[in-house]
Amino acid sequence: MELNENARVDTSQVDDRRGSGGGGGMGIPIPIGGGRGGIVGIIIAVLVALVGGGFGLNAATNGGGDEQGDNTSLEQKCSAQDALKQLDCRNALYVNSIQAYWRTAMPEAFGEQYRPSKTVFFSQNVSTACGAADSGVGPFYCPADDLVYIDLTFYKLLADQLGAEGEFAQPYVLAHEYGHHVQDLLGTEAQMRRQQERDPQSANALSVKLELQADCYAGAWAKNATGTADERGQKIFKSITEEDISQAIDAAEKIGDDAIQERSGRPVNPDEFTHGSSEQRKQWFTKGFTTGDPKSCDTFGAGA
Ligand SMILES: [Zn+2]
Repeated sequence: MELNENARVDTSQVDDRRGSGGGGGMGIPIPIGGGRGGIVGIIIAVLVALVGGGFGLNAATNGGGDEQGDNTSLEQKCSAQDALKQLDCRNALYVNSIQAYWRTAMPEAFGEQYRPSKTVFFSQNVSTACGAADSGVGPFYCPADDLVYIDLTFYKLLADQLGAEGEFAQPYVLAHEYGHHVQDLLGTEAQMRRQQERDPQSANALSVKLELQADCYAGAWAKNATGTADERGQKIFKSITEEDISQAIDAAEKIGDDAIQERSGRPVNPDEFTHGSSEQRKQWFTKGFTTGDPKSCDTFGAGA
């Protein structure tokens, strides 16, 4: 993967809340109950497994999701000469590429306008409209405030503890979270929650479908990413190689529910899956990548 050093990072798509102290104290658990909470995170299951399921189900609600971070320093940093050597600037550019993709892909595929959503960079803990969260929950999307949240130190965990080392795992993770934003805009997410309420037995299976669709959307972005450009029309990626795609697939496999369960020393039990097995995650990312068409991501349909 090579980024175009002439691409301009649009930091207005990011809300940098690192170092601002986050919100409301450490370790207030976010409501996540079995995939039916307000949060749709890529990796909640991983961390629950890694830390031994220490998250409670306190519905920590607070309204403080809309404080604005001061992005001045990030903007300066990311307009400097060597900006793309910086992890945060690169990630802001990934966000730019993903949203540039959906701006055209969503009307094309679904006949609906895309509404941009910011990514919040936070450190350790943050308050969101879905409750207070700490880094332990991993990157997530909050449908109540339409924001993607990530503590960038997550990538170190992804590499060190889960063995997904390639850099392309990073835009994959972000593209998966923006997949949830698209589901939110299209009403897929709300529809699924209603179905879960009607049929609690299938709550986990439905959650898996939602997650796999987000993986498939990430694949569709990956296929089209080299066609995305910054606001001046400069291409964002110079190249994305097969190696990069295998890195994304590798990350998808590493965070499959079965891989997580094995890692945690528990027997693999598909009934507990909320994100999908390694094979399924790989399969759906690949489907999105092969077709390059988000319409092919019909995990809820008959073909699934
Ligand atoms: Zn997810």
